[in-house]
Amino acid sequence: MNKSFFIKSIPMGLIVQKYGGTSVADSKRIMNVARRIAATRMDGNQVIAVVSAMGDTTDDLIKLAHEITPKPNPREMDVLLSTGEIVSSTLLAMALKTLGFEAISLTGAQAGIKTTRQYSRALITDINPDRIYDELREGKIVIVAGFQGVTEGFDVTTLGRGGSDTTAVALAAKLGADKCVRYTDTEGIFTADPRIVPDATCLKEISYEEMLELSVYGSKVVHPRAIELAEYYNMPLIVASSFTNSPGTIIHGGKMEVRNKVTAISHDMNVAKITVQGIKDEPGIAAKLFVPLADAGISVDTIVQNSSINEMTDLTFTVAEDDIERATAIVKTVASQMNAKVVTDTHIGKVSIIGGSMLNGTGYASTLFKTLSDENINIDLITTSEIRITVIVKEDKVLDAVRVLHSAFKLNED
Ligand code: ASP
Ligand code: MG
Repeated sequence: MNKSFFIKSIPMGLIVQKYGGTSVADSKRIMNVARRIAATRMDGNQVIAVVSAMGDTTDDLIKLAHEITPKPNPREMDVLLSTGEIVSSTLLAMALKTLGFEAISLTGAQAGIKTTRQYSRALITDINPDRIYDELREGKIVIVAGFQGVTEGFDVTTLGRGGSDTTAVALAAKLGADKCVRYTDTEGIFTADPRIVPDATCLKEISYEEMLELSVYGSKVVHPRAIELAEYYNMPLIVASSFTNSPGTIIHGGKMEVRNKVTAISHDMNVAKITVQGIKDEPGIAAKLFVPLADAGISVDTIVQNSSINEMTDLTFTVAEDDIERATAIVKTVASQMNAKVVTDTHIGKVSIIGGSMLNGTGYASTLFKTLSDENINIDLITTSEIRITVIVKEDKVLDAVRVLHSAFKLNED
């Protein structure tokens, strides 16, 4: 998909870069990013850079709105939040000009990013690339404000927290870029969180599927929606540090190096459990519980139903801890109609081992269970996919579990 552009008759590659909030947190860092973009340009590439808002700007803006009203108007909220990325994009364009480069900042709307009208979680429906092409043709570096777009009716929307990753991948796909590089404050994707496992190693490559499991099950490095989009368009996505020159990790769908072990371990503390006890085991019970949860936009993960005794059963499932209050209220209403009891637990977390090699290999589950039992870590619930095994354990055991599993699966060795 290498569509080169001809600028003044010189064919050039196109690279989309994305810089996260920490990379543009202050003016010094913005200058640093400008120098990196300039260097990419000097290497003979066209560059589109997508930026997040500076540092904690988005959180600060949300706080500000809530000081005015507990329920900010969704349309106004999206316009407000979109300004964070506009600030960083303009400053970065100015920074590039001070270095002698032609650059222009574009808001999501100016960049032709069309979305649905779902405020705060809009989906990109199409991108009209004309304006970006025009600017590139004029030899400019294009800086796009991430995380935003515009509806048919010209209302500004945002794409959900972490949405700038999606902007970058969508632009790279639409414009047929050679690659999309997501710069952040870590060297790449690690075998486990290096703050918890000091000898965690940076992966050279990882598949889209593995990365998707990793990000859904705890790693916050790349937004899941961006990975899905990259996979759909087969766009190689590189995660690298904006502070060093290390090569980073390439996320792709091509042939992987053969690994006979787990690729990475992730964990997530934002987990809570709801158990409904004493439900009559009859058709339609699960639907009664889960339909209203889905209608409220609450995503349910691990679901376990006990085999019934005397036609009575228990049902346990997990939700994000952020959703526990809303979820409990809904479940209690339904449970009271069934004379069932509701018990919740927020002091739990998830630990997952992830690896494409699990598809064909054996012994992963046994090693996992043996390692945790040797450490006296009790497993509460278990879920699996073809390339993942997740255990739910007590919150205060999560980090120990990550550490012992990292060494049991020898992830510190190349
Ligand atoms: N600034 C937005 C957020 O903090 C979007 C992003 O950074 O990708 O969620
Ligand atoms: Mg928890």
